[in-house]
Amino acid sequence: MIRLIASLFLLTASFIALAQDDPQQTLFTNVNIFNGTDNRLYEGHSVLVEGNLIKSISASEITPNEGATIIDGGGRTLMPGLIDAHTHLNMQFGGYGTDRGIQGMQNMTWEEIGALAYESAREYLPAGVTTVRDLCGMSQGLRKHIDSGTLEGPRIYTSGTCVGQSSGHGDWRWDPSVLRDDGSKSNLELLGITKLTDGADAVLGASRNNLAGGADFVKMMSGGGVTSERDPIESVQGTIEELSAMVTATSQFGTMSAVHAYHDESVRNALMAGVVSIEHGNLMAEAETFEMVKEADAWVVPAMAAFAEDIFDHPYYGNPDLPAYAKVQKIIVNAENWIDLANKYEINLGFGSDSVITNKEGWRQTRDFQITQWGRSFGNFRTLKAMTSDNGRLMALTGDMNPYPEGKLGVIEVGGYADIILVDGNPLEDLSFVGASAEMFGESRPSPSVDSIPLVMKNGKIYKNTL
Ligand SMILES: [Zn+2]
Repeated sequence: MIRLIASLFLLTASFIALAQDDPQQTLFTNVNIFNGTDNRLYEGHSVLVEGNLIKSISASEITPNEGATIIDGGGRTLMPGLIDAHTHLNMQFGGYGTDRGIQGMQNMTWEEIGALAYESAREYLPAGVTTVRDLCGMSQGLRKHIDSGTLEGPRIYTSGTCVGQSSGHGDWRWDPSVLRDDGSKSNLELLGITKLTDGADAVLGASRNNLAGGADFVKMMSGGGVTSERDPIESVQGTIEELSAMVTATSQFGTMSAVHAYHDESVRNALMAGVVSIEHGNLMAEAETFEMVKEADAWVVPAMAAFAEDIFDHPYYGNPDLPAYAKVQKIIVNAENWIDLANKYEINLGFGSDSVITNKEGWRQTRDFQITQWGRSFGNFRTLKAMTSDNGRLMALTGDMNPYPEGKLGVIEVGGYADIILVDGNPLEDLSFVGASAEMFGESRPSPSVDSIPLVMKNGKIYKNTL
């Protein structure tokens, strides 16, 4: 009898505990939904968030828990938080900061780099970007503190240290004295942002080391770059054996590989090795390469701003005395052909700002202009889909290493993560509602806030609300 009373008491106690622990809910009413996947708005809907996930979506009234936060959307568009699939939080300056690109980081300390990385991360939220993918040198440190709530910023997917050959895109030994054959390293290699590897064994070790250090996937350089000064942009970098070594390390951990690659041969080598994420690809000129991307169901994350003359207004890219100037000119002439082929083969495209060696105003301007370039090239719907559900699918390719495995990203779906923004108009009709700007440097936008995005929620928590 005593045992029965005791267990009844326990039962009652647990009911009380349940009632007290009702998960926090937020109900959005009177919103038109862009769900990230369909080319339409679902008008007059309500969306209920419970904890950090979307619990229900309905055209009828939803009754939330007592004590829920209720937000009248006032007929605004409710859509997934935006995703930037290519950024460089660890490679930033305040303002433009430099006219020498990455070389300007030669004397920077971790103290500066870390502070600016956080500032760059923090700038994303007021612009409606709730997830970013970092492609060089970020480990899990900043993510750990953002996810625990100590710091504010987006979700971060990271490749860890960039892996690449001596003399390649990741070789940032600017001072000739470090070119001595005595194992001398550049500042950024000492800090773990880049790693020079020559030979398949070295790549295998570096890739595994990245995964051990908290990387979700690995990135290697398979061809020349714009911001590096030693390598021709036409150069092929890394051997098939080296690329395959990276893919061995990532596939054994159930995740994906990425490469920095501009031209056909560097892209094809990567695809043959099993890489699924091609960063940039802007110099892909042959139909066969696009066919291979399609066949492999791989992704290209193009640097769309590099296809426009406007980029020459940038103090670094527009300086004819620096190698980047001539490299960008080679990219621009392939713009029309590239966009035609990407549309014809309907390859998977990720949206990335490729924000590097800038931040604050420069970041906003590059990203906003990039959105306009996307709209012009692929249409508004494809652009918004890339910034939401398509990028969400790209993040999910991290598979067993996915740091956010609880729900889908980039969609308004039951069970998806509650990463949600409200937008003052219909972005399917006008991309400026999510920040697009037709001029790269014309209009000054000093604040990171996109004012037509009055509300930003990430993981069920509201970070911006100017309603
Ligand atoms: Zn990049």
